[in-house]
Amino acid sequence: TEFLIEVDHLKKYYPIQSGLFNRVTGHVKAVDDVSLAIRKGETFGLVGESGCGKSTLGRVILRLLEATEGEVRFQGTDIHKLPESKLRALREEMQIVFQDPFASLNPRFTVREIIGEPLLVHRRMSAREIDERVVELMELVGLDASRRNRYPHEFSGGQRQRVGIARAIALNPKFIVADEAVSALDVSVQSQVLNLMMKLQRELGLTFLFIAHGLNVVRHISDRVGVMYLGKLVEVSTTEELFAQPLHPYTAALMSSIPRPDPKVKRDRIMLTGDVPSPANPPSGCRFHTRCPLAQETCRHQEPKLTEALPGRQVACHFPLGIAAEVN
Ligand code: SF4
Ligand code: MG
Repeated sequence: TEFLIEVDHLKKYYPIQSGLFNRVTGHVKAVDDVSLAIRKGETFGLVGESGCGKSTLGRVILRLLEATEGEVRFQGTDIHKLPESKLRALREEMQIVFQDPFASLNPRFTVREIIGEPLLVHRRMSAREIDERVVELMELVGLDASRRNRYPHEFSGGQRQRVGIARAIALNPKFIVADEAVSALDVSVQSQVLNLMMKLQRELGLTFLFIAHGLNVVRHISDRVGVMYLGKLVEVSTTEELFAQPLHPYTAALMSSIPRPDPKVKRDRIMLTGDVPSPANPPSGCRFHTRCPLAQETCRHQEPKLTEALPGRQVACHFPLGIAAEVN
């Protein structure tokens, strides 16, 4: 198969408990029936407002969280059916880069220890072998390896993100989930880190799921983009076609919120109003109907399925933008 990752009808629900006996009174449908596939060597950008389920989806794809229902296949194997004993080998193949890569790490670890830890745990390398590999990795991500015995707080935000990337690639993974990996950085530093990730992808043959809340961040790095809203994928397209003409009103709304829009790009200007409804109690029919300026009566009752509206372009909307305009 040309796909490294295949996600089929994936669901992640969290029970909502209340009362004296912790009765389950409902579920937060963080990821609600998502299907997608990521090709080998591809960067798939995943965008949506906070709380839309994109981070949860990334974690279920890595099996850092268990799925409620559905499948995630990595190289054809359903990873949620793998026994615990096989998970360790899987962890070497799939890695994650966080927004704050050190939040979960001991601040008294040096950069050498941070990058070298996976090598110690998974490969049982000697101290000398680890040191050599850490030097190699730091050079690969553009860090001064002579600073390897320093602590994370002695590095800038962009450098710390490079340390996180060096740690993530230490075991030669095939697949990396970058979860808001550049969101906390200044725009100029962001583009340096994005360029580094693209360089590493080419040189190491990596496949990325690149999660961000804004479309502008994923635009230059992604081959394709998926847009999420309240636990569902609402549009999937090549990046170029998505920016030329979004099909889903929500995608168009996200684009309208990008600062300094390119005036050459044709786009239907849609402003988002209202708050994101709760994923515990999503609106009936199309989940976007409470905020969609194009909503019709049908939208309130009938849920639009993600379908191929144009070759290679999927959208979940009864009245997709570019297409509706031609029909009317
Ligand atoms: Fe808007 Fe209706 Fe399309 Fe939903 S299905 S995005 S409410 S037009
Ligand atoms: Mg998040």
